[in-house]
Amino acid sequence: MKLCSVPASNRARADRRAGLRRPGNRFPGGRKALPGLAALLLAAVPAAGAQRPGDSRADYRIEAKLDEATKQLEGKLTLRWTNGSGEPVQDLWFHLYHNAFSNNRSTHLTEAGGELRGVKMEEGWGWQQVESVRVSLAGEAGWEDLFPSFRYRRPDDGREDDRTVFSVDLPQPAAPGQTVVVQITWRGQLPRVRRRTGYKDDFILAAHWFPKLGVYEAGRGWNAHQFHANTEFFADYGTYDVTLDLPKEYVGKVWASGVKSNETIEGDRLKVRFDAPSDADRRRTDAFGGQPLVHGFAWTADTRFVPFHKTFRYAEWADDFPGEVEKAHAAFGPTEDIGLRDVDITVLIHPERIDQVERHFKATEAALFFYGLWFGEYPYQHITVVDPAWGARAAGGMEYPTLFTSGTRLFTTEDMHTPEGVTVHEAGHQFWYGLVGNNEFEAAFLDEGFNSYTDSEVMFRVYGEQRSTTSYANIPVDGVPVGGAPGGSPVANALVGKEIPIPIPFLPDPVLQPLPDSGFLDLWRDQPRLTFVPERTDPRWNDRTRYLQSPDTDPLETFGYLHADRQSYSTNSYPRTAVALRSMAAVVGYDNFLRGMRRYSKDWRYAHPYPGDFYASFQEGAGVDVEWYFHELFQGTGTVDWSVAVEQERRPDPMGFFQSEGGEFFERVEDEEEEDADEDSRPWMIEVDVRRKGTLRLPVPIRLTFEDGSTQEIVWTREEQEETTWKRIELESDQKLTSVEIDPERGYFLDKNMANNSWHDVHDRVAPWRWGERVLSQYQRYLHWIGGFGG
Ligand SMILES: [Zn+2]
Repeated sequence: MKLCSVPASNRARADRRAGLRRPGNRFPGGRKALPGLAALLLAAVPAAGAQRPGDSRADYRIEAKLDEATKQLEGKLTLRWTNGSGEPVQDLWFHLYHNAFSNNRSTHLTEAGGELRGVKMEEGWGWQQVESVRVSLAGEAGWEDLFPSFRYRRPDDGREDDRTVFSVDLPQPAAPGQTVVVQITWRGQLPRVRRRTGYKDDFILAAHWFPKLGVYEAGRGWNAHQFHANTEFFADYGTYDVTLDLPKEYVGKVWASGVKSNETIEGDRLKVRFDAPSDADRRRTDAFGGQPLVHGFAWTADTRFVPFHKTFRYAEWADDFPGEVEKAHAAFGPTEDIGLRDVDITVLIHPERIDQVERHFKATEAALFFYGLWFGEYPYQHITVVDPAWGARAAGGMEYPTLFTSGTRLFTTEDMHTPEGVTVHEAGHQFWYGLVGNNEFEAAFLDEGFNSYTDSEVMFRVYGEQRSTTSYANIPVDGVPVGGAPGGSPVANALVGKEIPIPIPFLPDPVLQPLPDSGFLDLWRDQPRLTFVPERTDPRWNDRTRYLQSPDTDPLETFGYLHADRQSYSTNSYPRTAVALRSMAAVVGYDNFLRGMRRYSKDWRYAHPYPGDFYASFQEGAGVDVEWYFHELFQGTGTVDWSVAVEQERRPDPMGFFQSEGGEFFERVEDEEEEDADEDSRPWMIEVDVRRKGTLRLPVPIRLTFEDGSTQEIVWTREEQEETTWKRIELESDQKLTSVEIDPERGYFLDKNMANNSWHDVHDRVAPWRWGERVLSQYQRYLHWIGGFGG
């Protein structure tokens, strides 16, 4: 859809609505797209800072008791919900997400193929059972029972066995601005940790552990999706006061979103209370002028946790990266305060990995510094990094408010980017997910993709290139197996004598296996020298390699659970967005880009933006009009492949009939002696032929370099590209052309085939081989990477 046709002042709102409602993104379960008139009415909603659609507020008080023998939770919550939608609201819809693990027919498990992170789910089920719901429409008095109206909802797929969303009817509609108080009691079984949440022995990661209200959106009703395999977060901002009742073995071993405010021991029980955000944070105004709030609460406990503490200080990092601070100042101007608050970091680690504590600290600080520098401070006093227990790796690599899980291994070095990569990514989610609370179900690229872009930028600046390794008996060795890459295995296996196919007629695929299984041969086969694998790769290039897995299957703007396949979901939600943002910086200029991103982050802090909101805020902040870019790349599947070819020769001697000034023809014949004599003085006739495949028309610089080292840069404009898919540059020069490079500063990472983006007078026959291997090896690393992430 074209973005808008309303006055500029109203554009943000209209875009916001319009951006989402393309025909491809219909709301499942009969919800209808907003009609154009309603979109225009919404466009009249006041600007950011005032009440916005979706700006309801949800404050929770929760008490829960753990039965450590059965790993069951008994809970009671009191929710104060203020209706900020501007509409009367008839009912309340809640998430009840542990039911995703209650049977193998839930939407989550069905979409995941019955497996969670590669493990078939056949035991260790989890569930939640709501036991009572009551409401008070006048403070905490005059309670009315809502339980008779309790019903499960399946707004996305109608799947009978999915019980991850329920609703209750209010006795009378909650008026705009009205606060209703709801009390719910429930019982639940924690699942054995398979994915994101659950227990393993004494280790508990409790996410999605209480009934959590969805988001009521004006004109749309309740936005409460079922728990899908890939998407899981959307809730109103507010505060949490949570008291946990646990066995006293957990004293000093429990951590949660926010900060611990009280802890008492009664007999053999521990009662521990957390406030999220902390009391001090709630009374604070953050750097953008807002009150810190959160939109979820997770907790973790493990008797084996060893906690370490450190304080992040902006000044220390600013001293280490003065160039980056200068760039931020240049982009945001002298009046913008880019300093960041101190943040206490706790790393919860297991005894066998204590030597990695400093690396978790450094990676977390790196994220707090760079994300904060670019997108505004992390506003909370504390952040907790959880290193999941052995056998609970499925709980790793996940983000929750002020707490995230990392993931590591033994025998790792910093230049392998493990656990640094995951730690920066998950810490980064505090910004893209935590502070800017987009709807992850409907636009996962706004959190995962923005985060992928940023984490690569941080990794490159702090840790440099990533070393390629592969593992033998858990010990990492330089090199990446070609065997795992598509088409790599047969060749590599034949080379080391593991498997040699013998084409014998009438015999079905005979294979010779002189040396079938040998760890030593595998190790030898995978060495960089033998595989041409680059030993180190820029993390930003990894985004591009992964983008190439599925560069044009779906638009970025696609609901998380409605992609063509899981490959398309992962590519679009992570690397394709990263590449699109990085390339956008090249289109608008880095300063403008930073301004646009910061503006979006500021406008939508503690709020629920949609793609159209990003487009509007970005353009206002950057001061540019790049609607075409959003249209082609975010709402479309545009791709590009540029190529260049060159012809050049000395101007030939005149031959044939020429006309004299008097008008008479005379003939000139070839004079070999004369030709030899002045050959070096005749100019070069040069023809550069640049072509474009694909629909994406990016203004692209073309650099010509001549023998004497001089260069000439020509921009092939978007307008020119609308006329033709090719550009011919004809030159006459004293200097021979030595090279032509398309996009020489590598602003764009979008070109599908960069092997044909430059021409050189002197050819290097090894280059294409290196190129091919580079693609294979990065694909391998991609598979490794995607295996380590939860979200
Ligand atoms: Zn993520």
